[in-house]
Amino acid sequence: MTSPLTLRQQKRPLIGCTTYHKIVAQSPPIEVYGLMPAYVAAIREAGGIPLLIPLGAGEDELQAIFESVDGVLLPGGGDIAPIAYQGQSHRSLRDINPDRDRVEMFMVRQAVRAQKPILAICRGHQMMNVALGGSLWEDIAGLMPGAIQHDNYLTSPRTFLAHSVQITPDSKISHWVKTTELPVNSLHHQGVRDLAPELTATAVAPDGLIEGVEVSGHPFAVGVQWHPENLIYDNPTMLGLFKGLVTAANGRNETNGSNRAF
Ligand code: MN
Repeated sequence: MTSPLTLRQQKRPLIGCTTYHKIVAQSPPIEVYGLMPAYVAAIREAGGIPLLIPLGAGEDELQAIFESVDGVLLPGGGDIAPIAYQGQSHRSLRDINPDRDRVEMFMVRQAVRAQKPILAICRGHQMMNVALGGSLWEDIAGLMPGAIQHDNYLTSPRTFLAHSVQITPDSKISHWVKTTELPVNSLHHQGVRDLAPELTATAVAPDGLIEGVEVSGHPFAVGVQWHPENLIYDNPTMLGLFKGLVTAANGRNETNGSNRAF
């Protein structure tokens, strides 16, 4: 007979993942809400159960979804509308979707307020900063003085290690990747400009760009500018970021006395 303790240990926390909207080029074209499978695989590898959050949800629906999940993942994607951070339009802006901005802003603010674990990747890292009152470089190459190349998505595979990051010792990120210097991929043309007041920068690129952020005093609220989901097989320590999310979500799950068993 399985003991209650064993049942609790076997529970896998639900990780709500926001999605993008795409139009698939078939005849006739169709619309989809989706997510790249690498995020789903990384959550599963870390022991969580991924649950996709659709766009188009009203606030009541979003709140119900938020309360149902044990943790939240914000994936990469297109640019955030500059109006969200008093930014300027720029010719390089692409794939702006105000509905996705709205859904993700809601999830960031709720996760920070409710102390629910959240991992935010690339666009998600930028969204975490914007949702909490920070701003972005609309285009790093065109606007940030002294910037190195960060936009490798057109020229290199997603696993290409483009630059290093220096990670603050004793931060959540250094704890979970077990190092303070890490080579990372770099698939972004925007980046954090002014840091939101609630965030602490805990990883930085050689040109000074903030590539990792955390909310101090929160169980796990972490943003990274790189794409760890594409590197978990090349560098297994990258899976640590997902393990950090899942472990914190699992702790919350048990603390709340949830009776779900998977
Ligand atoms: Mn970069």
